[in-house]
Amino acid sequence: MTRAILTVNSGSSSLKLGLFSENLDMLAMGHVDRIGRREAAMKLTGADGASLPLSETAPEAFATNAAALETALDAFRADFDALEIVAVGHRIVHGGLKHAAPEKVTAALIKDLARLAPYAPLHQPHNLAGIRAAIDAFPGVPQIACYDTAFHRGHPFVSDVYALPRAYYEKGVRRYGFHGLSYDYIESELARSEPDLHAGRVVVAHLGSGASMCALKGGKSIASSLGFSALDGLPMGTRSGELDPGVVLYLMDQEGMGAAEISDLLYKKSGLLGLSGISNDMRTLEDSDDPHAAQAIAYFAFRIKREIGAMAAALGGLDGIVFCGGIGENSARLRAEVCADMGWLGIDLDAEANAQSARDIGADRVRVMVIPTNEEIIIARAARKVLSL
Ligand code: ADP
Repeated sequence: MTRAILTVNSGSSSLKLGLFSENLDMLAMGHVDRIGRREAAMKLTGADGASLPLSETAPEAFATNAAALETALDAFRADFDALEIVAVGHRIVHGGLKHAAPEKVTAALIKDLARLAPYAPLHQPHNLAGIRAAIDAFPGVPQIACYDTAFHRGHPFVSDVYALPRAYYEKGVRRYGFHGLSYDYIESELARSEPDLHAGRVVVAHLGSGASMCALKGGKSIASSLGFSALDGLPMGTRSGELDPGVVLYLMDQEGMGAAEISDLLYKKSGLLGLSGISNDMRTLEDSDDPHAAQAIAYFAFRIKREIGAMAAALGGLDGIVFCGGIGENSARLRAEVCADMGWLGIDLDAEANAQSARDIGADRVRVMVIPTNEEIIIARAARKVLSL
C-alpha cells in the first residue's frame, strides 16, 4: 500500500481532484469540466500527464457538483485501489474572520463554515458537500480545510475596509479577497523561479469561471479585486463583478425583487452569460460570431485593464503581470485585448509567444507571464504540514 494525500477542489463549474504521495509527488489529477451542462466531461491524468483510460460515463453523472464528485472518486478508486488515503485536503472558499490557517475539519467547523455560504453561494455549499462526501468515502481519515481567503488576511487596513460605519468592520464586513490558494501557488512559483520579480511589484490575474486579481508586493497580497463576497471586482462567468450598490437598491425598490432573487441574478445570470445572452464559457463566446459575445469579452478585458492600472497605482509601479486560471492560461485573444495600448505602462506582448501561451509573453519593460496555477499542490502541502506527515 502506498500512502497518499487526496485534494478536493470544487470550483463554480469544475471539480479538480489531486493525488499526491506523502513526499508531494503528483500521482494523478482528475478534472471534471462544465459541470451541469451536456458537454460535461471528466479527464484523469497520471503522473506523466498522460490521460488514464476511463469507462464511458453518462452526462447525468456530472449533473451537479455532488454527482461529479461521486463519479470522480469512483474513477480514482478504480484506478488506485492500492493506495491508502491518509489525508484529504479541501479548498474552502470562505474562511471568514475566524479561519485562515489550514486546519483539521470537525463537525463544529463545518457548521461554522456553513454560515458563510450566503457570501460564496456558488462554492461554499459545494466545498462543504465535498467534505461530507470525502468523510463518507474515507471514514476516519483526517480532512483538512484550506482557505481561499487566507492569503489576503494581511491586507493593509485601506484594502481591507469599506467606508461603512465602523461597527460593520468589527462584525466582519471586510474585503476578504478570494482565489488565495491560486495566488499562494503563483507566489511560491515566482519565489522559486523568479526571485527578482518576486521581490518586486506584480499583478496576478486569476481568470477562470471565477475571476479576480491580486496585487503582490514582495510576494505579499496588498490588494484584491474581490471583496466581502465572491461578487466584487471583475465580471465572471455568471457573476456581475463590481456593481454600484445603488443598482441593488433600484432592483429592490423599482423592480420589487427580494434578496434571493437578486442573489440569483447577480451570482448566476450576470457576467459573461448575462452580457452575451449566449454562454458563461469563454470558449463558446470566442467561437461565436454574435456581436454580444464580442461585447461581453470586451467588457471583461476592459475591467481587467482598468484593474491593472488601479493595482499599479496601489503597488507604486509595476514589474510583472501573471495570467493564470482557465482563461488566463489559454485565451490568447483575451490576453491580447487586455494588454492592447498599454505601452504607456511598459506593457506589450510578443504576439507569437502569446499565441502559444508561452511562459514569457511580454515584449516591453514589464514581464508578462502565463503560469498554470496549481491549487492542488498548495492544498496537499498544507495537509501534510497540519498532520506533520
Ligand atoms: P473554475 O473557476 O471553474 O476552476 P477554470 O479555471 O477551469 O474555472 O476556467 C474555466 C474557463 O476557462 C471557462 O470560461 C473556459 O471557457 C475557459 N477556457 C478553458 N480553456 C480555454 C481556451 N482554450 N480558450 C479560451 N478559454 C478557455
